[in-house]
Amino acid sequence: MSQSFETTTELFGSNVFNESTMKERLPKDVFKSFKKVLSGEKVLDVDTANVIANAMKDWAIEKGATHYCHWFQPMTGLTAEKHDSFISPVGDGTTVMEFSGKELIQGEPDASSFPSGGLRVTFEARGYTAWDCTSPVFVKEDGKNITLFIPSAFCSYNGQALDKKTPLLRSMDALNKQAVRVLKALGNTTTNRVTSTLGPEQEYFLVDRTFYEARLDLVLAGRTLFGAPSPRGQEMDDHYFGTLHERVASYMNEINVELWKLGVSAKTQHNEVSPAQYELAPIFATVNVATDHNHLTMETMEKVANRHGFVCLLHEKPFAGVNGSGKHVNWSIGTDCGINLLDPGDTPHDNMVFLVFLTAIIRAVDKYAKLLRASVANTGNDHRLGANEAPPAIVSIFLGDQLTDIVSQLAEGGAKESKQGGQLELGISTLPPLPRDCTDRNRTSPFAFTGNRFEFRMVGSSQSTSGPVFVLNTIVAEVLSEFAEVIEKDSSNTAVQALLSKYVKEHHRILFNGDNYAAEWPIEAAKRGLPNLKSTVDSILSINDKENVAVFEAQNVLSEEELEARMDILLEAYSMKINIEAKTMIQMAKRQIIPACTEYSATLADAVASITAAGVDASAQKDVLTKVCGLISELSGAVAALEAGLEKAGAIEETDKQAISFRDDVFAACTPVRQAADSLEQIVDAEIWPLPTYAEMLFLR
Ligand code: ADP
Ligand code: MG
Repeated sequence: MSQSFETTTELFGSNVFNESTMKERLPKDVFKSFKKVLSGEKVLDVDTANVIANAMKDWAIEKGATHYCHWFQPMTGLTAEKHDSFISPVGDGTTVMEFSGKELIQGEPDASSFPSGGLRVTFEARGYTAWDCTSPVFVKEDGKNITLFIPSAFCSYNGQALDKKTPLLRSMDALNKQAVRVLKALGNTTTNRVTSTLGPEQEYFLVDRTFYEARLDLVLAGRTLFGAPSPRGQEMDDHYFGTLHERVASYMNEINVELWKLGVSAKTQHNEVSPAQYELAPIFATVNVATDHNHLTMETMEKVANRHGFVCLLHEKPFAGVNGSGKHVNWSIGTDCGINLLDPGDTPHDNMVFLVFLTAIIRAVDKYAKLLRASVANTGNDHRLGANEAPPAIVSIFLGDQLTDIVSQLAEGGAKESKQGGQLELGISTLPPLPRDCTDRNRTSPFAFTGNRFEFRMVGSSQSTSGPVFVLNTIVAEVLSEFAEVIEKDSSNTAVQALLSKYVKEHHRILFNGDNYAAEWPIEAAKRGLPNLKSTVDSILSINDKENVAVFEAQNVLSEEELEARMDILLEAYSMKINIEAKTMIQMAKRQIIPACTEYSATLADAVASITAAGVDASAQKDVLTKVCGLISELSGAVAALEAGLEKAGAIEETDKQAISFRDDVFAACTPVRQAADSLEQIVDAEIWPLPTYAEMLFLR
């Protein structure tokens, strides 16, 4: 399909069957009826679905599509798609192109090869995909293949969630229900629906494809498993917001065009802190659409990189010693009347609705801190959290001066005033006075209030935003339901003040405006009794704690069985990832690094012999030779220990014990292998060293 667009406004959403396209192409009554489905007033009936499917098909075919697919998000954390063509042979050797409402609404992919955590045994292979009609369908071009994509949920024969979208949608319902209850109890009669919103900032690295292809670790594990530090790292602070390199800027431009066609509102782009690191942020949308869009963004970043001779690395920590990549989850709650419930307004102390929602969030985050921590747990994030560039594994909330002051007033019985930001004095007569925000930013906080939303900064760059968001929605819904119970009985100012006062006092320990990267914070946090689950395994093992099962069941987001299945899948994924990393390390050490170092030591030995034979002192060469040989033997020993660890972990049957062993016997045994190899890299002849270096990968483009 080659279309030319005069303007960005024409291009934007051109591949999306969005509301405006529907309005144009659907009969009026069908469009109206579908709008009711979208607002939750009715369910989609087959007749309406048939008309919509037919219009979609015609539109997609005009765009060059030959196939459709239900696009879903299995527990791999990636997306999945199975394409079917529209052809429907009529019996005389010709075909028509057909697409029915049934095919639009429901698909039946074989589910047996997706992780299910025991929810489905292999011989019970049936799985269903169901159209999420709140996320618009779109046409995607992959090379010459053009397909109509239908965002879908994925469940088992018994209706159990096998994906990341189902709990997200359920959590949106839960939050909607409880938030509307609270609003009604507080006297709001205009709100019919409340939705959570998400703006994910996506960080990523770009490396030149030739370097990538020369590194098995990048190809197989997505991160460097070896690599001595570059003589220059990020200490100059010159990359963050620095001038865009032309090749990178062209890449960004092409991502934007691709994303805009898909209706993804890519908005902000800039260089990040580490050399070769960048960020893209869209304009926020409802959490399910934003999550779908974030998947499209990650996929597009990887795809477009190939066209520019780059590889896009979405791993949380592709390079040791420089910043890793996160995905800051900006999250808020808004009403169908367009009100952002987390907007404090100019005088937050008398904004009761805001204070109720704020207090609910404070209570939810403190009460379920371990669950939030678990929602961002993966092997990649273990390298990032607490590594002086990202918040530690301790969940805390930053409120800033103004709200902290108001919360203190609440604790004392009632909020009476709001501190104001005033004006910014620059001392330059030609510049107008600028208003100052009443609160500064805190870049070190894992969960920071940023003016009219919270920014959950622990999320890893490769992770689906679904997990962290459905946890947030669920725990906040739960606390709102507690609040609703109270306010529905007595909504007087005194009663609500008393409720808020009680909870801000009870959860004061979760509030922390200081430096989360400081060495003193974990000590202080321990005194406050805040959990600090440093490893993925520990935090995953806390997922099925009693209170977590209870909150997911109470809010109808996940049953105990579904939750346990998820825990199993996460533990298995941990073990598999560490297994791959360890095996890749062993292979690179044995087949690339040790042979290269052996070659170098042989050259050195020859040199020592011939220099000595010439009657010259060869002690300097001999010193290097001794060091190289010593390190080779250290490396061989470490590799053998790692192999033993792998054997031990591999033999364990129980998922939880195996994950613990992969952490303690395998992951831990990787460190000495890397140390020996990185030491060798620093003394072995650059001509012989078999891998591209950090300096090359981070600085050459
Ligand atoms: P910063 O780097 O200063 O935190 P960015 O502009 O990079 O800010 O990203 C902020 C993100 O927050 C954007 O994706 C933006 O759309 C999003 N955002 C703004 N308002 C809301 C809201 N009400 N709900 C969710 N996300 C929001
Ligand atoms: Mg931000």
